[in-house]
Amino acid sequence: MSETSRYARQLTLPEFGVHGQARLARARVVIVGVGGLGAPIATYLAGAGVGHLTLVDDDVVALHNLHRQPLYTEADVGRAKVECAATALRARNGTITIVPRAARVTASNADAIVTGHDLVLDGTDTLPTRYALTDACVRAGVPLVYGSVSRLEGQMSVFGLGNGPCYRCLFPEMPDAALAPSCAEQGVLGVVPGVIALLQATEALKVLSGLGTPLAGRLLHADLSRGVFHEFMIAARTDCACRAPAAVAARAAWTAAMTPSSTPHMAIPQLTASDVHYALRGEHPPRLIDVREPWEYETAHIEGAELMPMGGIPLAVQPGGALAELPRDTALIIQCHHGGRSNQVAHFLAGQGFTNVSNFDGGIDAWSIEIDPSVPRY
Ligand SMILES: [Zn+2]
Repeated sequence: MSETSRYARQLTLPEFGVHGQARLARARVVIVGVGGLGAPIATYLAGAGVGHLTLVDDDVVALHNLHRQPLYTEADVGRAKVECAATALRARNGTITIVPRAARVTASNADAIVTGHDLVLDGTDTLPTRYALTDACVRAGVPLVYGSVSRLEGQMSVFGLGNGPCYRCLFPEMPDAALAPSCAEQGVLGVVPGVIALLQATEALKVLSGLGTPLAGRLLHADLSRGVFHEFMIAARTDCACRAPAAVAARAAWTAAMTPSSTPHMAIPQLTASDVHYALRGEHPPRLIDVREPWEYETAHIEGAELMPMGGIPLAVQPGGALAELPRDTALIIQCHHGGRSNQVAHFLAGQGFTNVSNFDGGIDAWSIEIDPSVPRY
């Protein structure tokens, strides 16, 4: 199975690219509750290439779960959710690590569950679990992507990100359980948790990859009976536990750890087709790395170019990868079809410490036009 083309559709997003993919590959995420919210969240995070997913749930699959939890099948009924989910997710993406934990999050184990993760996704519908999780996240400085649903409504937010508020800033004390009926008591249309779950998964991918503006300090409320979304600003409460110095320090440490140390905006030499032609004929020619897909390489390639599709580059620099042992001053020219993908890869490699990397601006198309017309254009 070709690993390199798996993420092609998101790699070509300029604001995501190989940097975003590499950040996802390093990320460690815990999803608490693998039900109506957690099952779709897990499906999309696994598909996107989040490198480590811990799944926590003590429930077994029931027939009435199937209308909103598409990870499970009729054959799974009666089996532990985390085991069924892990099997289904590994079948979708065998390159990531899935750790199932058949447990219920309580105040006594929440710290141990959150520790070692970069992000927590709340897929639970029980309040004691949510409050235990919130408090553990505040202590660890780890953001919590919150979601909840009821009937035809849902809401979500990202709590504890940077200086943003936490869940207790919004709801300081746990309400009486009798005042907070669950989905089982109120009913829910299956698509409603699906909508909220995908918003949560979107926020998770944004926070982990550095894409866009996270939904922190804001609560998004969805009234799906009317098809209306409303946004409410949430302020941090100065007397909340999340404002304590230890909690502020923990969040600062998280931010420092998750912010890439090397900026991707360093200057990369941009070579024309004739520059590349000249360099390749020199006494010590650079290595020409073609980061297109295999079908493109088969359609047309420059003699001597080494095929290394873009999707595999983040893995190639990891220990054991094709580029891992390469001296960091090796002369590399990165090439694709027109120069866009290769420019991203060149920046990524420079960020990984490669000091002599150039981009072939114009790519193989410019080569066909300016240097060698026998190379087919496509
Ligand atoms: Zn707070």
